[in-house]
Amino acid sequence: EGAPGCSQEGLPCPSDSSELVLECLQQFKVTETQLQQIQASLLGSMEQALRGQATPASAVRMLPTYVGSTPHGTEQGDFVVLELGATGASLRVLWVTLMGTEGHRMEPQSQEFVIPPEVMLGPGQQLFDFAAHCLSEFLDALPMDKQGLQLGFSFSFPCHQTGLDRSTLISWTKGFRCSGVEGHDVVQLLRDAIERQGAYSIDVFAVVNDTVGTMMGCEPGVGPCEVGLVVDTGTNACYMEEARHVAVLDEDRGRVCISVEWGSFSDDGVLGPVLTTFDHALDRESLNPGAQRFEKMIGGLYLGELVRLVLAHLAQRGVLFGGCTSPALLSRGSILLDHVAEMEDTLCPSSPLAGAARVHALLQDLGLSVGASDAELVQYVCAAVLTRAARLCAAALAAVLSRLQHSREQQMLQIAVATGGRVFERHPSFLSVLQKTVMLLAPQCDVSFIPSVDGGGRGVAMVTAVAARLAAHRRL
Ligand code: BGC
Repeated sequence: EGAPGCSQEGLPCPSDSSELVLECLQQFKVTETQLQQIQASLLGSMEQALRGQATPASAVRMLPTYVGSTPHGTEQGDFVVLELGATGASLRVLWVTLMGTEGHRMEPQSQEFVIPPEVMLGPGQQLFDFAAHCLSEFLDALPMDKQGLQLGFSFSFPCHQTGLDRSTLISWTKGFRCSGVEGHDVVQLLRDAIERQGAYSIDVFAVVNDTVGTMMGCEPGVGPCEVGLVVDTGTNACYMEEARHVAVLDEDRGRVCISVEWGSFSDDGVLGPVLTTFDHALDRESLNPGAQRFEKMIGGLYLGELVRLVLAHLAQRGVLFGGCTSPALLSRGSILLDHVAEMEDTLCPSSPLAGAARVHALLQDLGLSVGASDAELVQYVCAAVLTRAARLCAAALAAVLSRLQHSREQQMLQIAVATGGRVFERHPSFLSVLQKTVMLLAPQCDVSFIPSVDGGGRGVAMVTAVAARLAAHRRL
């Protein structure tokens, strides 16, 4: 990207700068035909993986989760939930009380801990020791009875599960790269760390992907909620599949929840034409070049970085900021999802400054000199990156919906999708673009979108309740 400073073209900005910006943003347009091709290719990849045919690492994974039904509403008790991976560099611990059929819902207690960067990239044992430490710090401060603690582990990375409490990490995603964890059972690693820590005796009953927690915690509406969709640091969905269609399970009855793991989808034929030079640059500089290409166009960890790459490019071409960059603009990770949200949303409730003034302030914080038309152009960039993310996500969701409709042999599929993650929470426009595009791509599906409760924590507690009950039966 070169040294910070001013481009050769220098001041003043070309008067047709907005045209140049729009030309650059054209790259982020994904046509309806392209979306349909992505939807079809993703569906093909899903079905191939269900049939158990060997699929490359760049295909969707379709991982069975050992969750066989949506909640009955009778689950009750106190549960500790440990969340790792959903919200990127933080870890969350929750105390969730399920009240069974009593009706009212108790707000969970929760605490968030920032994971130091060196822990995200260091030895696995250090990460799990850190988690065990956070757990006991959280429990120390709670006035509750801490006998017989039952824990659900929300671990949001692709895993081969062989039981409700057995799960082997396939590969890290989203900014984590701890050694000695891939290929190992993450529940065992957590149990060992809790034992090393020694402060509490805690039974780990279940390990749950965040999409599954999101789906399971969904407030029952007219019908059950059978799809969970997460767009947070990363992105993924799960849904209830007929077990007889899942070759690896060898079951002929009932349903099972499948974690699609669409972040790894990367069919060169259909994604190739959609990838921009900015996507290639982002991938090259990431911790896992070549992997998770679809996720890198949608996940919140990457949206800010894409915006930064576009702005730096336009500044270097003399189109923005009077042709000047700044050290911050040229540093990886300096624009975050929250910045994009604030700049894109002209009616952001969390900021006292209105529209363009807020964009000005944020850009000035990055050390940029902001010209009269810059703020508006930057808003276009944010909107283009976000809109593309929502449309691609819609193509993937439409593939899941077509799969459901086909396997249920229904003319018109009525379905509830639970949604979770910070991209939904911070960008209200993401859901509206997603909804509109899904209607276009899957017109035969009547979808209601339901925001998740407690960031999926309640759903993890539900799965843990069932797992604990099953374990008690086995002991009898
Ligand atoms: C992980 C998924 C997870 C998704 C959303 C992806 O990077 O592979 O397991 O569900 O992020 O957090």
